[in-house]
Amino acid sequence: MNGPEIHVEFAPELHLFVPRARATGAARTATDGVSTLGHLVESLGVPLTEVGALLVDGREVPAGHIPAGGESVRVQPVQHPQRVPGAPLRFLLDVHLGTLARRLRLLGVDTAYESTDLGDPALAALSAAEKRVLLSRDRGLLRRRELWAGAYVYSTRPEEQLQEVLDRFRPELSPWTRCTACNGLLRAATKDEVAEQLKGGTQRSYDVFAQCTACGRAYWRGAHHEQLEAIVERAVSRTRDA
Ligand SMILES: [Zn+2]
Repeated sequence: MNGPEIHVEFAPELHLFVPRARATGAARTATDGVSTLGHLVESLGVPLTEVGALLVDGREVPAGHIPAGGESVRVQPVQHPQRVPGAPLRFLLDVHLGTLARRLRLLGVDTAYESTDLGDPALAALSAAEKRVLLSRDRGLLRRRELWAGAYVYSTRPEEQLQEVLDRFRPELSPWTRCTACNGLLRAATKDEVAEQLKGGTQRSYDVFAQCTACGRAYWRGAHHEQLEAIVERAVSRTRDA
């Protein structure tokens, strides 16, 4: 493109997406009189899932605005907590976010995840069909038009990823109510009902069990319980203090 130029300034939160704007936080880009502002921002590298308000000469405009030469654009980050209207808040995670998926489920947050790679088109279609917010570190995936909603996961560390999602969306937490393996809901179970999944020691040491209503997996306060308890504790207190 070599049409008239506009000046685009990015909020600091968005600088990581725009290497060429990193030094000054701003970039000049040409307009063609046809492309929307949303498209231009995206072509500079910023997923629209991360964009909040778009201001042109200080006035908010929709992503469909067609910029004219000489305009000065300010790109704001998405606001926290982010509201996602139109369906109960639930998530879909890409194949790289397995640990985050299990932690969200541990907290009772409805989280779809497959450990086999479904591929971008199928993930995007699933997000649309089930009205799930797709979480990913893949910007190409977040650009797919079919997505119902999406969010970029900034950290590579599961502990920080969990905090990000909790801070951004403030989902309602209901710890110990979902199967971390399949996202199914848990129900209380008797020792007899889960007996065939228990080893001798477990059989003797525990009396309180739960079972997944979808896959049948049994749960009890076993060896990893303290570690899981700590994750739940941190998440709950952080959400309460927010
Ligand atoms: Zn299950």
